[in-house]
Formats: sequence, structure tokens, C-alpha cells
Amino acid sequence: MARDTHPKKEVRRAIKELRAAGWAIDVAGGGHTHRWGTAICPHQHPDGSGEATRCVRVIYGTPRNQYDEADRLRRALRKCQQMRTRFEKE
Ligand SMILES: [Zn+2]
Repeated sequence: MARDTHPKKEVRRAIKELRAAGWAIDVAGGGHTHRWGTAICPHQHPDGSGEATRCVRVIYGTPRNQYDEADRLRRALRKCQQMRTRFEKE
């Protein structure tokens, strides 16, 4: 299996959704390492103090439950989309 392919199927699906939304996937250890990589959103969210922040989520290579791990990544994606909607309205 390629280093940049996550070992868990459901997590691979979530990663695919993140990539489709423009997120960068920075593969650190890859494979079955604890810290598989990092997902970074493509947006600059204003944080209220004039600074811009990006959403960042660590992707674990050995999640206890691949569905929970996939949910966690999808929640990050939803939260990011909600932030965009909120700031774009202002
Ligand atoms: Zn974001």
C-alpha cells in the first residue's frame, strides 16, 4: 500500500471528501503510524483579532474506530464550511 494511502477504508473516504473540498493532506508518517498526517483547509478564516487561521486536523493512522476517525474529519470539514458561510455573510 502506498505511503500516502490511509490503511483504513472509511478514513480514506473521509480524506477523499476533504481533498474534494480543496483541503491539503500533508502525509507525515503514512501507513500505520500513530500520526499519519495532517489535513489543512484551503481557507483563511478571520479569527476576530485581524489574524487569519486555517483549520488543521491531525489524521491518525491507527484509530481505535475508523468510523469515529472519519466522523471527526467530516466534522472538521463541516465546521470549516460553517465558518466560511458565517464570515461571508458579514
Ligand atoms: Zn477552514
